[in-house]
Amino acid sequence: MSLCLFCRIVAGDIPAAILHRDDDVVAFRDIQPQAPIHVLVVPTRHVVSLAEAKPEDQALLGRLLLVARDIASRDGLDANGYRVVTNCGADGGQSVAHLHVHVLGGRPMAWPPG
Ligand code: AMP
Repeated sequence: MSLCLFCRIVAGDIPAAILHRDDDVVAFRDIQPQAPIHVLVVPTRHVVSLAEAKPEDQALLGRLLLVARDIASRDGLDANGYRVVTNCGADGGQSVAHLHVHVLGGRPMAWPPG
């Protein structure tokens, strides 16, 4: 059994509020939301981070963004907008070593981020 938290969520070993699932991508609500809408979009295959993505992951990276866009739209974020971000490595604030895209919305976002 994988020790990776998001691999375990993808496998259904750990419960999550799943919003989307296909062969390549799973999306679920963040357990500690930082905004009224906070969804994580992850590849079903274990990729550590954006830094570890390979040229052959190009289509997968595109899928993550398009699913993120569709989730945002479905959650009613089109009118006011939203933020899509991936944290990469220690300085990027990545705490789970499985590539994921955050979709955050439902409130204005500050810039620059902390
Ligand atoms: P990051 O810090 O960018 O690696 O983001 C990891 C995210 O995973 C954080 O926003 C956490 O709140 C979220 N998270 C951790 N455990 C779970 C879980 N079991 N279900 C859903 N989200 C989680």
